[in-house]
Amino acid sequence: METRKGKPRILTGDTPTGRLHLGHWVGSVERRVQLQGDYDCYFLLANMHAFTTRADQPAEIRRDTIEIVKDWLAAGIDPERSTIVLQTEVPAIAELTWYFAMLLSFNDVMGNPTLVHELETKGLAGKHSFGFPMYAVGQCADILAFRPVYVPVGEDQEPHIEMCRKAARKFDQLYCGVPDRTRDEDYEKAGGVFPIPRALIGRVGRLPGVGDGRQKMSKSLNNAIFLSDDPRDVQKKINRITTGRQSPTEPGDPDNVLFEFVEAFIADEGRVAELKDRYRRGDNLGDGHVKQEVAAAINTLLEPMRARRAQFDRPGGDDVIVDIIRAGTGRANATAEETLYMAKKAMKLDFGRRVLG
Ligand code: ATP
Ligand code: MG
Repeated sequence: METRKGKPRILTGDTPTGRLHLGHWVGSVERRVQLQGDYDCYFLLANMHAFTTRADQPAEIRRDTIEIVKDWLAAGIDPERSTIVLQTEVPAIAELTWYFAMLLSFNDVMGNPTLVHELETKGLAGKHSFGFPMYAVGQCADILAFRPVYVPVGEDQEPHIEMCRKAARKFDQLYCGVPDRTRDEDYEKAGGVFPIPRALIGRVGRLPGVGDGRQKMSKSLNNAIFLSDDPRDVQKKINRITTGRQSPTEPGDPDNVLFEFVEAFIADEGRVAELKDRYRRGDNLGDGHVKQEVAAAINTLLEPMRARRAQFDRPGGDDVIVDIIRAGTGRANATAEETLYMAKKAMKLDFGRRVLG
């Protein structure tokens, strides 16, 4: 799809439930930074969705919203080239959520494996709000409001993107007369309002956390290394990884969490192969040494981010961030309102075009 800038669009985003961590970097943010030049990028702050689990913590949601933007800028997202979108100030998203909620079945939503898994791991099963599962429907609207071709996300998001694709197909078939055997890439050509967007999974689709076990690194699970952590915290957290290996001369199986970090963060492939080989043979390579190399590699990655972040971590820094959010959201509303109008026209709801602002 061509845009006003003549580039195909991308949308993705994060929920302000905490700061960004290394899982976000390898799963999605690294990709975003790389794609900014060739795509018209929209990066969404899903602050409305943060209320699904933290309705009693509005101040924390506001703080995390601002912190995530600092993390994005620190990571290399350029607000001049990319559009930063605040979900709660884009009314078209909330409206589209209602329409998509009619196109997905109750079982589609409640059976979504990521949603089911989140209810379990976040201790919400049996006590979640009515609104919690709505976020999955809302996410279809977040994405489709911008009619993107790609959605760069981590592996856990695949079921959500599949649901979004389903909603888009259904809408185009029902209201735009697109035949149901149309190939996904041809929906717009066939008269559909919505393209069928594709997930772009990051270099590492699922980074584990630093706790025990292989849970994914997550803001909500207290097992994350944050992009804004200082070098000592990085080392301390890496030291929390357990492998069960007893001594540097014990042959080890590098199919473990520690080596997932080695592969994700040590850029030199020759060195990675050498470490794995020596680990397998028990060639005098202790876990402690591997952890030091991993922490050093992570700190090399994070150092320029810390320097960029420091520009905003000072008095007045938050105001600069709020201005960036406002400017991006203004641009985003132009696109989302256009989409909403197209959708409403297709649904015979075009009783006059609304102007925001
Ligand atoms: P929460 O605990 O609030 O769900 P989260 O840490 O899972 O937070 P999200 O805001 O849900 O983070 O995810 C933002 C993006 O980062 C998504 O594209 C998601 O797939 C990706 N992501 C999150 N955690 C990881 C991870 N451990 N590995 C790879 N990608 C990840
Ligand atoms: Mg999540």
